[in-house]
Amino acid sequence: MAEEIAMIEGESVVIDMAAERIAREPHQQGPCVCVRCRHEWRGGAPEGTLNMECPACHLNTGIFAAIILPSEDIYGCRCGNIFFTVTRTGIVCVSCGMGKQYSELE
Ligand SMILES: [Zn+2]
Ligand SMILES: [Zn+2]
Repeated sequence: MAEEIAMIEGESVVIDMAAERIAREPHQQGPCVCVRCRHEWRGGAPEGTLNMECPACHLNTGIFAAIILPSEDIYGCRCGNIFFTVTRTGIVCVSCGMGKQYSELE
């Protein structure tokens, strides 16, 4: 771990420089949701972070939930998740990995 000694008012203090660097990076924060267990919380992470550890189930399946959902019916995966990755041939559930071709969607 990257630690350095810094002098603050005559006393030596051990500073974790890696943690300090991360803490000073630009951060995004807001409502988060776990695509696995549906736990919701308010979180923060360095900009560009795609997924975070869920404080409830401890899987790395938390995402920022600053989303706008349409008022019409929406598709959901059999696992209950409503978030997908769009590929050339279809969609993939970001929670369980189940894929669907576009032709299979109703
Ligand atoms: Zn969770
Ligand atoms: Zn799924």
